[in-house]
Amino acid sequence: MPFNLRGDDVCRPTPPTPLPNPYWVAFSPSVAKLLGVELRANNLPKDPEWLDVLAGNQLNAGELIFSNPISTVYSGHQFGSWAGQLGDGRTILLGDINNLELQLKGAGRTHYSRMGDGRAVLRSSIREFLCSEAMHALGLPTSRALALVGSKQAVRRETMETAAICSRIAPSFIRVGHFEHFASLQNVVRLKELADLLIAEFYPECLANKGPYLNLFKEISARNAKLVAQWQSVGFCHGVLNSDNTSVLGLTIDYGPFGFLDQFQIDHICNHSDHGGRYAYHRQPQIMYWNMACLASAMLPLLELEHSAEESQDLLRSALEEFSVIYTKEWHQLFRSKLGLQSKEDGDTALIERLLQAMHDSKIDFTNFFRSLSNIKKDSMPIEILQKDEFVDRENIDQWFADYVNRLQSELLNDAERNGLMNQVNPKYILRNYLAQAAIEKAQQDDFSEVQKLHQILMHPFDEQETFEHYSKSPPVDMQAIPVSCSS
Ligand code: AMP
Ligand code: MG
Repeated sequence: MPFNLRGDDVCRPTPPTPLPNPYWVAFSPSVAKLLGVELRANNLPKDPEWLDVLAGNQLNAGELIFSNPISTVYSGHQFGSWAGQLGDGRTILLGDINNLELQLKGAGRTHYSRMGDGRAVLRSSIREFLCSEAMHALGLPTSRALALVGSKQAVRRETMETAAICSRIAPSFIRVGHFEHFASLQNVVRLKELADLLIAEFYPECLANKGPYLNLFKEISARNAKLVAQWQSVGFCHGVLNSDNTSVLGLTIDYGPFGFLDQFQIDHICNHSDHGGRYAYHRQPQIMYWNMACLASAMLPLLELEHSAEESQDLLRSALEEFSVIYTKEWHQLFRSKLGLQSKEDGDTALIERLLQAMHDSKIDFTNFFRSLSNIKKDSMPIEILQKDEFVDRENIDQWFADYVNRLQSELLNDAERNGLMNQVNPKYILRNYLAQAAIEKAQQDDFSEVQKLHQILMHPFDEQETFEHYSKSPPVDMQAIPVSCSS
């Protein structure tokens, strides 16, 4: 959707800074297709014009001209504290194609770069490219990645690395931070424009009933509650769930020091810069709720257009409380599906929680355990579960399996049907850190084959893919704790 707010207080014209001698690293044909035929989906990697466009070296490809590249301003809370003005410090919104915004991340300094160089390194760009596509294939709402281009241009982080640009798309990249920015300036006109734009384009149903802005808040909050439940269900940790990294469309955005759980540790911290564990796996729902509270307080002036100050606060407060109801319902639904339960029974929550506790105590591989659970038969004791021997408390897990098999008796589906459905929600392949790291290390030696192969595998996370069986393995012991930080 066109980000059609204009003015120096909202955005600045920002031509990308050219990236010297760019080359293709990876490319997503399905995203190219979304953008339309002009991109000649399958020819894109051979197209020197598009290489230059996605490297920020030119603004037109054939008929298509990006005449108005901009960067936008937002503010936000980082690690729980007000960080003031931030903004697209290294991301340029090139323009729209087919109602989708196309951004270049790492395309050079912008008006909002502060002390940063406006670049992104190959390492983090590979991670963003692969993870956006992997999340999409897992069925989660996310920004998508079109392509990854690299260059030999040196970029200083902890060590010297090289620059890359990940081109990404979303219907909109508007964040909670955009609202917080104008709220902090008490600029109700801009707040209203932002809200109206979102309603017109993405939330038209909010106009149907009284109180469009309260409705808008509820919808955004509901989408993010469902999103975070989905993260939990695939073991995804975002890593920097600051309010400026929280989408108002309920999309996963701004992939940085994220991580998928290997071993199930409820308090797993994937971001090595997150010393207090604010963004640990089990805190994500609470943090998303906190971010929705930031949004509620930013939207307060909009409600005050129609209600008294006190009434507006009450309305938003009770709307905010719906978050945990929606989250909990979604979480239960998702975890019941992971266990292959179609019907609802009173003991289901306890059954799920007992399993997660046992997995935590024994550090069981989250993805592989749920995947193998689908092999269980209703009428035989589950001996074929791969990781059964890895549980430290055998008696406890034997009891759990007995209760689970017992619970399956009241399900209508037969073993094969249940197996089929479970394998559509319990992936076989996720972007494990050690796999990403191996692909990054090869790419840093100019071999992009592993990035491309991983991309292909992750586009079909629920398929068996026999030739790639080893990509589903838990990390080797020395690859279990690869440090991933905010540096990118
Ligand atoms: P992030 O934690 O990646 O979401 O970034 C937080 C803020 O820092 C955003 O405003 C980014 O645009 C900005 N930022 C991150 N890296 C850079 C960089 N290399 N140059 C300029 N700004 C950056
Ligand atoms: Mg960000």
